[in-house]
Formats: sequence, structure tokens, C-alpha cells
Amino acid sequence: MATRAVVPAVTNGPGIRSSSAAAGGAAESSAAAMVASVRPRSSSLRSGFLGCKVQVGVVANVAAAGVGKKRVANAGRARAASEDYYNILGVSKSADKAEIKSAYRKLARQYHPDVNKEAGAEQKFKDISNAYEVLSDDEKRSLYDRYGEAGLKGAGAGAADFNNPFDLFETFFGSMGGMGGNARAQRSRPTQGDDERYDLLLDFRDAVFGTDKDIEVTRLESCNTCNGSGAKPGTTPTTCNTCGGQGQVVSTAQTPLGDFRQVATCPACGGTGENATPCNTCGGDGRVRKTKRISLKVPAGVDSGSRLRVRSEGNAGRRGGPPGDLYVFINVRSDPELKRDGNNILISSKVSYIDAILGTTVKVPTVDGTVDLKIPAGTQPGTTLVMAKRGVPLLGKNNLRGDQLVRVQVEIPKRISSEERKLIEELAALSKPKAAGSRV
Ligand SMILES: [Zn+2]
Ligand SMILES: [Zn+2]
Repeated sequence: MATRAVVPAVTNGPGIRSSSAAAGGAAESSAAAMVASVRPRSSSLRSGFLGCKVQVGVVANVAAAGVGKKRVANAGRARAASEDYYNILGVSKSADKAEIKSAYRKLARQYHPDVNKEAGAEQKFKDISNAYEVLSDDEKRSLYDRYGEAGLKGAGAGAADFNNPFDLFETFFGSMGGMGGNARAQRSRPTQGDDERYDLLLDFRDAVFGTDKDIEVTRLESCNTCNGSGAKPGTTPTTCNTCGGQGQVVSTAQTPLGDFRQVATCPACGGTGENATPCNTCGGDGRVRKTKRISLKVPAGVDSGSRLRVRSEGNAGRRGGPPGDLYVFINVRSDPELKRDGNNILISSKVSYIDAILGTTVKVPTVDGTVDLKIPAGTQPGTTLVMAKRGVPLLGKNNLRGDQLVRVQVEIPKRISSEERKLIEELAALSKPKAAGSRV
């Protein structure tokens, strides 16, 4: 239950990433340095980070995408540069989607490494998968057509990362394929922990000026009893007899395409390749669910839809794998008077027609409290007056602020006293020569 201040990375709209200024102290400055070097790991999260307008709807997508880690298994794989995606699939540059799909189906079955034992079949299988991934996606294909492979990398949002070719294969052929794929990914290697999400509701002014919040996060932590190994202390794991330590068992399945070697996770050891007496505390998982209190520095300028990323405060990894990150999703309560529009504050202010004509000073609420606003003589109805730098500090550039925009509503009285009427009629008479014929 250790408590320390963390300085999260934050996003608040396209391309804006920053960390708040730390209050000082060694622990905090090291946290800040850590933030400076972070990069979102999963490609889906990365696109959420950089490309999305900040909306609550987008937040939901990001949350759903937050666990897709396995996908980057073969990210950035080098492909023979001489080969063009169209050649790989054996289709013309003008091939339509159906042709591309059919070419993929045919070649993927032909080169699946569980069927095809020729040297290089696996690489070819992956190339086919990558080519299909690009050419079946209108956006990626158009980038590829214009800029080649460089265009995909330049697209930013992780476009050059490919999905696992075995996953893609399974989406086409389903379990009938039965050709490994998943079993390969489930070896007993240390795996990175999943990201964790926390939803934080902030008061309007806390979001504007930033705040310190203590939050309690429940997530998986490494088990202290077994040090994360999952094995009961004092016992030594033995090699699994069923799979001989491979973590996988192989069987032969008959399918419409012929006999296939089927690779599955070993049922005896669950893929670890070892048999161990499970730790009593964690039941063998090596991780236990715990609640931790985290002091969070919320930087000034966040808004509903902002995400704070707290590095390594997500779920612990398996078998000593690195922890995931904690994402704090911000929601901001509305203010009864002040309406936020990005970094500006919108408000309307009523003045009497007399004040609009003669000019006056009114008191208006701002995020800094009540402030005097000068209404110039002759202010027209619907005029917007700008109170410079009375808006929201810019995220990550807290010396800069938005403005408060005041829309002036001029009130015309519905009823007037006889005395007022007399005076206004005098006024009317006075202005008659100037606007002759405009009155009855
Ligand atoms: Zn344990
Ligand atoms: Zn086994």
C-alpha cells in the first residue's frame, strides 16, 4: 500500500501529449523522466492516443482495445523489400477485394507452415498475410500505392505493425484450420500484464487548474508468497510428462483439406511445460488482486475524454513479465454558469438596454472568481466580448490560457412606468429629425 506521487502522461486531443510539471523532489522528477520516454505499446491504443478527437465515445473504444497485446507479436517484421504486395498475392494492381481475398485464401492454405514443410514456407505465409492485410484495407492500400511500404510506416498510427498471421488465418478458416496459431503464443514465456482502466470524475475547476487526487486501484500484483512464480515455496517444478516440457501437444486431425498436425496447449501443464505445486496464496497464477492507493497529479487543462497514462501501474505480468499501464479516463462535471469550449469559457451576460447604450461595468463569474467586465457604450445585442486569458490553461503549457467569451444579451423591458414612457417619448421626439419617417 505504498503511496507515491505519479506524474502521468496525458492526452487531450490530436497530437497533444504532455506531462504536468512536478512539484519537485527526487521521486517525482524521476517519474517525470519516465513519462518522457513512454510510448503506447499496442497499436490500437496508439491510434487512440494520436489520432482521435477527444470524445467520450472514443474513450469507450480505447478501453475496449486496451487488452489487445498479443497482436504485436510480429510487429515490424522485415519483408523482402524486392517483393511487392501485389506480386506476393499474384494479383494485378487493379484487383478488387474479392480477387485479393480469394488469392489470400488460396495461398495461405498452400503455405501454412503446418502443411507446407518446404524451407521458407513460414516466411512466405507471413508475407502473404501481411500483403493481404494491406491490400484488403482501403486506406492502407491507397497509402501503399502512393508511397510504397514507407507510406505505411509514415502513416503514424502503427500501420506498419502487422497482425499475427495465424490469427488472420483463423479468422478465415476458423477452428477447422487447427494449425497451431494460438498455441504458439501461449508458451510459458513471461507475458506483459494488461493495462488497467480507472474512471475519474473531476469538478469543473479541478479540471481547469489541475489537482492532486488519491485514487484506489485494484489490479493484479505479483504474489509475494511465491515471488510471482506460481509455485509453492520450497517445491521445485518438474518437467511436464505429458508434453515433455514443450507446453504443447501435437495430434493429427482430419479435415476437408487433408490430415493436419494439430498443435494445442498441453492440458496437463497449461502450456508452462512444468508441473508445480501451486502456491496457496495465488493458486498458481503468480499474481494476486490487490488494491493500491496512488496519488495522481492531474495537470491543468484536462477535459472530459482526457486520458492520463500512469506507467507500470496496470496489472502485473505473468512469470515476471512487465506490468501493464494504468489509464485514468477523465470525466468533468459541468458548471451551472460556465460552459467550456476547449480552452475557452463561454457565458452570457444580461444588460439593460440603457446600460447597453450608455455603457457600464458588470460583474461576471469566471474560473478565477467574479471579475468586473466593462460593457462599452453602444454595445449591440449579441455582441461577444472577450475576456482575454480568463479561460482554461493549455494542457502542458500552463502559462498559456484560453479566453472567456461573454455574449451580451440586451434586455428590453416589456413593461415601463408612465414616467419612463414619457422620457422615452421625449427621446423619440429628439431623434425624429435624424430618422424622419421611421415612426408613425
Ligand atoms: Zn503465489
Ligand atoms: Zn505439459
